[in-house]
Formats: sequence, C-alpha cells, structure tokens
Amino acid sequence: MPLTPFHLGPAFILWYIFKKHINLAGLLFGSIIVDSKAAVCLIFLGCETHDPIFHSFFGALWLGIVVAVIVLLLCSHLKNITTSLKIDDNYSTAAIFSGALLGTFSHIVLDICTHSNIFAFWPIYSQPFSISFYWFVQLFAILTTIIAILWFVNKVSQK
Ligand SMILES: [Zn+2]
Repeated sequence: MPLTPFHLGPAFILWYIFKKHINLAGLLFGSIIVDSKAAVCLIFLGCETHDPIFHSFFGALWLGIVVAVIVLLLCSHLKNITTSLKIDDNYSTAAIFSGALLGTFSHIVLDICTHSNIFAFWPIYSQPFSISFYWFVQLFAILTTIIAILWFVNKVSQK
C-alpha cells in the first residue's frame, strides 16, 4: 500500500469475519506496525522505506509477537475503550496473539500484491509469487478502510 492507514480496512474486515477468535487492537496495530520503520525513514532518515526484514514473514512473526505483548500489557485500558464503544472483543491471550500475527502477516500479503520490492521470504531475495493485482488491492483496501471508518464513527456516535 502506498499509505499505511489503508492496511487498517482489510484488517478490520478480517476482524469482523473472525471477531469471536481474534483481538481487534492486536489486529489493527499489527497491520500497521510493519511500516513503522518506513515511517521513520520517510520522515527522518530518507532510507529505504520497505525494510526487507520488517516486510518479510520472518519479520512479521517477531513484530506480531511484539504487538501481542504490548496489547497484553495495555489490555485493561483497551478493554475500557472497547467496552465504552460497545465493541464485543476477545481479550484472551490466544486471541491477542492471533490478531497481532494475522495483522502483521496480512500486511505482508497485501504489500506483495502491490509492491515489487517485498521479499517475503527474506533472507532469500526473490519474490516467487509476486502478484500484480495492484488496482484491485488498492480499491479493496480503500473501500474497506472507508467501511471501517464509518463503522467506528457509528460506534462513537452511539456512545
Ligand atoms: Zn508495508
């Protein structure tokens, strides 16, 4: 994705489909943390925005674990937020890890479909199943992000 926030829409749809089994905060945070180094590069350092390690399944695994631990540490605060918004979310340890890992791995899969410089199997520098669904994936991500924003606005307005 050219813009990191558009990873939130597909992640939200995954949560909506599997919400009994995965944690929303872990999923959403996991879907964007993969671009954390890209943000630092873009804003401050001018380095390569698609870090090969972060944008690999290996990096996604470790970033997902980091996200899960952060969500576990912030669990009581996050529960207060979702409860106040009347969002029925699963805060079991398994759901938090599932959400965080699904978030980071979904980021890699979406980026494989839209970028030619993603090496999902780093340290192997090849992209064996590079898929060129650029416009379809972009449109899907934008539409699902709009749906997610409208859903959250509706939840906040009902509060
Ligand atoms: Zn990315």
